[in-house]
Amino acid sequence: MSARWPTVPEDFPKAAARTLQDSQLRSNLGHATTAIRAKRAGVVGEVPDWEALRDEGAAARDRALRRLDEHLVLLEERVTALGGHVHWAPDKETAQRIVVDLVRGTGSDEVIKVKSLLTDELELNPALGDAGITAQETDLAELIVQLGGDRQSHILVPAIHRNRREIRDIFRETLPNAEDVSDDPADLAEAARVHLREQFLRVPVAISGANAAVAETGTVAVVESEGNGRMCLTMPKTLITVMGIEKVLPTWEDLGTILRLLPRSSTGERMNPYTSLWTGVTPGDGPEEFHLVLVDAGRTTVLADPVGRDALRCIRCSACLNVCPVYERTGGQAYESIYPGPIGAILTPQLQGLDTAPTLPWASSLCGACYEVCPVKIDIPRILVHLRGRVTEETDASGKGHHAGAERLSMRAAGRVMSSRRAYEAAQKAGRLGLTFVQGGRGARGALPGLSGWTQSRDLPQPEGSFRDWWRQREAGRADGDAPPGAAPHGPGEDA
Ligand code: SF4
Repeated sequence: MSARWPTVPEDFPKAAARTLQDSQLRSNLGHATTAIRAKRAGVVGEVPDWEALRDEGAAARDRALRRLDEHLVLLEERVTALGGHVHWAPDKETAQRIVVDLVRGTGSDEVIKVKSLLTDELELNPALGDAGITAQETDLAELIVQLGGDRQSHILVPAIHRNRREIRDIFRETLPNAEDVSDDPADLAEAARVHLREQFLRVPVAISGANAAVAETGTVAVVESEGNGRMCLTMPKTLITVMGIEKVLPTWEDLGTILRLLPRSSTGERMNPYTSLWTGVTPGDGPEEFHLVLVDAGRTTVLADPVGRDALRCIRCSACLNVCPVYERTGGQAYESIYPGPIGAILTPQLQGLDTAPTLPWASSLCGACYEVCPVKIDIPRILVHLRGRVTEETDASGKGHHAGAERLSMRAAGRVMSSRRAYEAAQKAGRLGLTFVQGGRGARGALPGLSGWTQSRDLPQPEGSFRDWWRQREAGRADGDAPPGAAPHGPGEDA
């Protein structure tokens, strides 16, 4: 079984410092993300109306979220009318109980699963295990993570941190009849195929996630690359789909927009290889019983935040992970959350509560690359800054909170200084004095605690005067009929 994430994650800086020591991990990640980035850039460049498509994707997701309650009720009506069953789970525990009871009701003590981040978020596999039910992952990357007793490190490629040799060793140790498998990708795929095929044919219950559901038709959609998902969705007698409530889309047309954006953004493909759509049940075709479990687990709380709610637009393409310089170096496991990278840094603290993951909004350089690639235009840097503000406000000023002490006090001090002209001018003078010290030679720079690494490798030029000084001189010069002084600092209006 895959390893569990800690309920309260370690501080991101500490976890990142640990994973940064792993040069093999950095090499695996750098190799994989560079290849995916190049592929994505190529196929996105082929679409002349890509920006318009992004706008439409963002609008479709916003339409869904704006009247979420109505879309969900309509979805329930449609699914039920077409022979499916809908269950509502306000939290993780309820979702676990619903799924465990449904599986027990079938009499099976085994399920096959197709990749679902939500079931990981809900810790469904451990809950099933506690109930004596074995859950077998069927997505190849999820299988590697499960067999290795590992944790996933990427939304789309959960085993991105593993190379071929590591996967070969995991298969040799855990799969029956795979003692001699080589590290050739075809051999590895064949070993997994032989193992999974037997399960597809035998196990009567499947659990799936969902990429989307269309309210107006009651249709559920799963996209994937290997076809293993399609086997899960069609072969077993009972299909249980676990879906976050934010995944609903109002119309079929909205689904079309998302399906145009998703494969190019995620795997860098023009079209994903397998798109499975099903609507209720059809006698003689596919599962005889279909259950849709609609899960809240913090989503309505996120929806209540006017800035943070944009994170719910996410279609889990992982493009933001693949361009993030922080993710590329630390790897996904440093985030200690189901959702790593930029989207994890804004989604996890909101879903779990800021107090359980307070350092994640700082796991970013704010370079903006994530916003540039996001197919549904989530302004991740804006939400990161917003969450930083919330963490700073909400954590305990006594110093118990992760950022409370230093950051809150410094922000308060800055607020006091900026609200008084005299204090502000005095602070500017003090700042220039400080710079003089920093520029006072290597000895002085090296002596600055915490800044020596920065100042040793960068120039830190001292401005010749403050903007206010320059402005006063300029106005005085005008009054005397002189030209403004030439040695002005760069400032507004200089080019005019
Ligand atoms: S935030 Fe945007 S780029 Fe990142 S996974 Fe979600 S949809 Fe993709």
